[in-house]
Amino acid sequence: MKKITIVGTGPAGLTAAIYAARAGFKPTVYAGLQHGGQLTTTTDIENFPGFSSAIPGPELMAAMTKQAEHVGATIIYDTITKVDFSQKTLVMWAENTRIESSVVIISTGATAKTLALPDEAKLMGRGVSTCATCDGFFFKGKRVAVIGGGDSAMEEALYLANLCSEVLLIHRRGEFRASKIMLERAEKHPKITFKTPYTVSKLLADAAGLSGIRCLNTVDESSEDLPLDGLFYGIGHTPNSEVFKPYIATDDHGYIRVHDYTKTNVPGVFAAGDIADPVFKQAVTAAGMGCQAAIQATKYIEEQGH
Ligand SMILES: Cc1cc2nc3c(=O)[nH]c(=O)nc-3n(C[C@H](O)[C@H](O)[C@H](O)COP(=O)(O)OP(=O)(O)OC[C@H]3O[C@@H](n4cnc5c(N)ncnc54)[C@H](O)[C@@H]3O)c2cc1C
Repeated sequence: MKKITIVGTGPAGLTAAIYAARAGFKPTVYAGLQHGGQLTTTTDIENFPGFSSAIPGPELMAAMTKQAEHVGATIIYDTITKVDFSQKTLVMWAENTRIESSVVIISTGATAKTLALPDEAKLMGRGVSTCATCDGFFFKGKRVAVIGGGDSAMEEALYLANLCSEVLLIHRRGEFRASKIMLERAEKHPKITFKTPYTVSKLLADAAGLSGIRCLNTVDESSEDLPLDGLFYGIGHTPNSEVFKPYIATDDHGYIRVHDYTKTNVPGVFAAGDIADPVFKQAVTAAGMGCQAAIQATKYIEEQGH
């Protein structure tokens, strides 16, 4: 039986792996379909401490992987497809392989929702983004748009309005899901212009990346092209918690509920990173939670006398 199994190799999972390995537990880490996590889909990271110039996301995650392996973690390139957390021995399956563990750390992240437009993947990090806190700085003094009508979109727009020359807030309806207070804040901001009822039907690009968008009026179906430097999706995230849901409590959006830092409702199961964090969703906060989860996991093992 394994002592510590970690699910996910983003910043949370790999940091948990480094701490668990250095505590002498030889953790096994399951990578899933996206080894290295979300940062492998982006170019320049400028806000992860320790680097005086930007580091490409894939490079940062390759370094974290190497560090985790160097201190004794084993990475397995498989996906957890089923779990049974009904007994003290925690059981998971990676396809047909049965895994038994004393402790599981879930760090499966949350995937940003997008419109899945043609060329979107190609333009991600080249004008298209899912995170204003991460990428807003690259659009200082530029004209950008945010898609969405909830609190996430208002937050993204307000954050960008502090940096950019103009922010268009594009929403497919005239009504908004956002809370009154957030909506009013965005409406009152002199740099934010609302564009409703519109959606984006096409991403326009040149050799440098995104150059604009084609907007479609959702009522009269007319369309227009708008030149833009950046486009931000503010339409929420899907936490990757489905496989754990039969046993692990989540909130209404699917984020794993944690108490006392990283403990879930099942003893011995901890959660770290974006999967348990509907608020910050940053690499450094995910890594911080990974550290907390590993320390709590090792303490749990000691307390159980395993
Ligand atoms: C385009 C983009 C740019 C970003 N830029 C920045 C930035 O500049 N700075 C910053 O701080 N943050 C940035 N972020 C946010 C940052 O990437 C996340 O906050 C961070 O990656 C969260 O780490 P995590 O470990 O919680 O999850 P993730 O990085 O999402 O990793 C999840 C891991 O879980 C695995 N997994 C999922 N399901 C399973 C399963 N069933 N079985 C096994 N494994 C599974 C995945 O394969 C993956 O390895 C950006 C995000 C995106 C999308």
